[in-house]
Amino acid sequence: YPVQSSPAITQAQQVLKQTFGYDRFRDGQAQVITQVMQQKDVLVLMPTGGGKSLCYQIPAMLLPGLTIVVSPLISLMKDQVDALLTYGVNAAYINSTLSSQDMFNIYKGMQDDKYQLIYVAPERLMQLDFIQRLQGLTISLIAVDEAHCVSHWGHDFRKDYRLLGQLKGTFPHIPIMGLTATADLATRADITQQLNLQQPFIFKGSFDRPNIRYNQITKYKATEQAIAFIKQQDGSGIIYCNSRRKVDDLSIALAKQGINCAGYHAGLEGAIRDKIQRDFIQDKIDIIVATVAFGMGIDKSNVRFVLHFDLPRSIESYYQEIGRAGRDGMPAEALLLFDEKDAARIRQWISTGENLERNSVELQKFAAMEAFGEAQTCRRQILLNYFAEYSAGHCGNCDICLDPPKAFDGTVEAQKVLSCVFRLKQSVAGQYLIDVLRGKQLKRILEHGHDKLTTYAIGKDKSDAYWHNIINQLIHRGFLRVDITQNAVLKLTEEARPILQQAQKLQLAVPRLSLDLGKKAQFI
Ligand code: ADP
Ligand code: ZN
Repeated sequence: YPVQSSPAITQAQQVLKQTFGYDRFRDGQAQVITQVMQQKDVLVLMPTGGGKSLCYQIPAMLLPGLTIVVSPLISLMKDQVDALLTYGVNAAYINSTLSSQDMFNIYKGMQDDKYQLIYVAPERLMQLDFIQRLQGLTISLIAVDEAHCVSHWGHDFRKDYRLLGQLKGTFPHIPIMGLTATADLATRADITQQLNLQQPFIFKGSFDRPNIRYNQITKYKATEQAIAFIKQQDGSGIIYCNSRRKVDDLSIALAKQGINCAGYHAGLEGAIRDKIQRDFIQDKIDIIVATVAFGMGIDKSNVRFVLHFDLPRSIESYYQEIGRAGRDGMPAEALLLFDEKDAARIRQWISTGENLERNSVELQKFAAMEAFGEAQTCRRQILLNYFAEYSAGHCGNCDICLDPPKAFDGTVEAQKVLSCVFRLKQSVAGQYLIDVLRGKQLKRILEHGHDKLTTYAIGKDKSDAYWHNIINQLIHRGFLRVDITQNAVLKLTEEARPILQQAQKLQLAVPRLSLDLGKKAQFI
């Protein structure tokens, strides 16, 4: 995107320097500002921390009228407005936290052309009396932040955002700018359509975050893995879990280890949530254990790690969540605990949704996430490819690049596992199988006489975690199947036969049982 120097850009540059104190535009900002100044609709796709806000804040200061910013989060609105006020920019926000007196004053201020920007929640904006108020004013730009919320296929659809589609009809001559950190092609097209953007200028920044190292280990005794990982970190971190209960359980378990943490989920009272957020931002709490309810709009630059205790539902949400690490550009870690059983459960859960079309889209999105989890190639490449940003296959800063998987002749290991599944009549789940393989003297094993099986204790020489990993590989490779309709019992597939009959050899990857963070990142 060539940036032409124009009077508008020269002015924008002055505002950048004089008001915000920055010397240079970041990638995309100048282009976007130029287009908006020419009244074009724009779609801005930049990763979190990429500098989206200035794309509308600077035009707001240069254009004659009022800029409306639609923002879904009350806390974010307040932070932004406070920051603008300290820069000497006249801004205000309108949401449900205001008293009617405050509201009255702001309405009066709008009438008197006092403001350059007004932040407003979508449900308020679309109320008829508010629209009528705006129709009496000079509006120069409408910016829709977190614009992916308008997409019903997105991971964060919000009902109130749907009404924003009417804006174009109501204000046909006012440029609309959509901004988001979600950049897959489907969401992109959906935003354009839902917001009725007219031949928009689309800017897509690079989504690569070279300072974040992507890591993944097979989930096994996840709490212990989480604790071991946290103890290798210093600084703050976020741990994402899929349910409120897990948030509560894990935060208690971590606290018992003397880790300074707090749980966060939508079941907590608003005031408590706000306090936890504040304490985290002010470094009074090191680690937040949270559901996905946490993080959108949180501007904390020194988050050193994001740990996914459970598998996210899509690559978009995963990428957005890990993107909260390392915004200061310093090295940061992302760790995903991957478990085939989690995946099976999520798949099942998605399929029970009422809207069949939506289920199918969600299943596709989840399949991409699952494939990412199973992949044995550069993780950054997979992520960037997903966002249509093609990259070479060796990033030098993911676990695969730093410690490539090694293959070994796993025929004997596979035979041990598969024959044990057979002897157990394909009626047990993974942990029971491991207990038998390792020859544990457990009551339930002895009661069933499974200590008499010929496969009892044939895997004594290896750890639980080792066998767990081998079993997972056999599942991924299609030799075993998890029957989630039957308590995750393991079944043999047709593929298993030649292995059991010793007619086929099998290469497996040497299990990676813990994360070696000693390896130095090789990014610049
Ligand atoms: P986003 O909304 O894309 O997540 P922000 O607009 O909050 O990102 O910007 C992230 C940070 O980068 C902010 O602290 C902002 O002040 C800073 N920033 C934005 N543009 C520039 C620039 N041109 N030069 C230096 N810093 C910038
Ligand atoms: Zn890599």
